Amino acid sequence: MALLQISEPGQSTVPHEHRLAAGIDLGTTNSLVASVRSGVAETLADADGADILPSVVRYTGHGEVMVGATALSHATQDPLNTLASVKRIMGRSVSDLATLQGHLPYQFADQDSRVPQIQTAAGPVTSIEVSAEILKTLRVRAEDSLGGDLSGVVITVPAYFDDAQRQATKDAGRLAGLNVFRLLNEPTAAAVAYGLDRQAEGVTAVYDLGGGTFDVSVLALTRGVFEVLSTGGDTALGGDDFDREIAAWVLEKADLDAGRDPQLLRKALAEARRAKESLTHAGETVICLEHGTGISKEIRLTRDRFEQLIWPYIRKTIAWCRKTLREADVEPSQVQHIILVGGSTRIPCVRRHVQEFFGRPALSDIDPDKVVAIGAAQQADMLAGNGSGEGVLLLDVLPLSLGVETMGNLVSRLIERNTAIPVARAQEFTTFKDGQTAMRIHVLQGEREKVEDCRSLATFDLTNIPPMVAGAAHIKVTFQVDADGLLSVSAQEKTSGVSASVDVKPSYGLTDTEIERMLKDSFEYAEQDMHARQLAERQVEAKRVLEALGSALEKDGDDLLSAQEREIIGQAQAELEAVCEGEDSEQIKQAVENLEHTSEAFVARRMNQSVRRVMRGHRVEEFE
Ligand code: ADP
Ligand code: MG
Repeated sequence: MALLQISEPGQSTVPHEHRLAAGIDLGTTNSLVASVRSGVAETLADADGADILPSVVRYTGHGEVMVGATALSHATQDPLNTLASVKRIMGRSVSDLATLQGHLPYQFADQDSRVPQIQTAAGPVTSIEVSAEILKTLRVRAEDSLGGDLSGVVITVPAYFDDAQRQATKDAGRLAGLNVFRLLNEPTAAAVAYGLDRQAEGVTAVYDLGGGTFDVSVLALTRGVFEVLSTGGDTALGGDDFDREIAAWVLEKADLDAGRDPQLLRKALAEARRAKESLTHAGETVICLEHGTGISKEIRLTRDRFEQLIWPYIRKTIAWCRKTLREADVEPSQVQHIILVGGSTRIPCVRRHVQEFFGRPALSDIDPDKVVAIGAAQQADMLAGNGSGEGVLLLDVLPLSLGVETMGNLVSRLIERNTAIPVARAQEFTTFKDGQTAMRIHVLQGEREKVEDCRSLATFDLTNIPPMVAGAAHIKVTFQVDADGLLSVSAQEKTSGVSASVDVKPSYGLTDTEIERMLKDSFEYAEQDMHARQLAERQVEAKRVLEALGSALEKDGDDLLSAQEREIIGQAQAELEAVCEGEDSEQIKQAVENLEHTSEAFVARRMNQSVRRVMRGHRVEEFE
């Protein structure tokens, strides 16, 4: 397995200028930028002293783009041009949108391009462009506070982000004029912020509950190497749900119906959020709702009641923790560190339940809003060459297996799911027919045996293979997945050196639900798939035997066989031809064996003949 050494030992002894670098937490709800100054990583504030930049962008009709709190303040008055939560559609295709959980409050432009475009007063925009606006704002903030151009940045992404989502994030960075050193998984960044990379070994669980998403990751650390053992979560669960629960409860208590009063609903939601955040410190709070003609109602919300309201959500997150640990084959008691990430982990009962589940206190000294950006800043600083210590090796895992199509519509897996990346794996394939000069490489993702049950990522052709007999060519197919999870595939024929390759950059990705479904299917259909594979393999074998015998008969059949012998072989041939497309794999197997048996003598005679040809004019001793 190829591991990526991020910094060379000894590199830091070479004197160099300090290069400016930053870490960016590009969140669904909020984004932050951080940098290492005088050896300390800290988040950078805007001119008003605010660290947190709401991930909201507003496009106006006269070419103005607002980002952050100013954009957010227009959300109610200009909802269609004020875009929030675009991280949810990063790397998604138009057809993916239908399957996404949760509602998407945008108006999509009517078009048939694969990347969804959101309709705004400034024309259609993609999630990549919207994210680039957020990144640009953070870049300007960083360059203003640090007093110079950034040499590069590290941008964090959820551990479950697939190839397309990572690619889209990188593209957004480039569009914002940033040099993206690399992408980093959010949980890994949190672990780096706590200095866990400097510890010897251990298992860390990162529990991240934000505004609209929840995820939990299990990391293993061995000699400075982080590996994501497993991840799980729900992309439609977070603090926003708590706001909605409180709002619904308070409206019912106040006997108000917000069904036809969007303004009342928005007010209730804003009040709910304020109440929720104040209950972090207070035991109770009062929610004040004004409606209609200046009548106002006051409702008291206690922390106990609040905890009851959100318990169904917390319970779900704990179930995910259990499931994710099981997937990593780790017991709760084996987890040495628990890190809390995301604004919603400030809620005392969230902490309590997480600590109860793992049976130990969680790390929470670093602000849960800032911890990801801080870890990213430390990585960026090191990648810029400023770090004094040795580098960390950061590993991720592949969410699904990768492979190629082989004869019979089958998938041959080169890299298994959950393999740590970066990784490169190669396998040799050969030609099926005599004189075959081209081969199609079909790259697939998934856990099933048949091509149609996996996801097609790319196809490309290897051409100009020198004509050889079937099975003589050595074609080496190499899969390489880089540290950002991006795949490139190459194929090379050994004797001639001809090669072809493809970078797999699908413009759309898999949804979590799809990944889950593909995994579930692979268990459910395991037995059925095994039979299907066996049948397909036998069909391929039958065709290969027929093909080889056919060409041998054409060459030597007349010389080496009597008419009667030829007829017997012909019968066995016809029998196999008749069954080889059928569904009965046992029948195919027997017909193949029968044909091989009937043609044994013929094959032996051909062998003798070719030996005689070679030996003509030579003495036997020469070959001994
Ligand atoms: P994301 O990672 O999705 O961008 P954040 O980690 O910034 O989100 O979390 C934002 C969420 O945290 C919001 O729902 C916000 O209401 C919630 N939050 C922030 N502070 C508190 C608090 N003191 N108590 C409860 N919830 C809080
Ligand atoms: Mg976050």
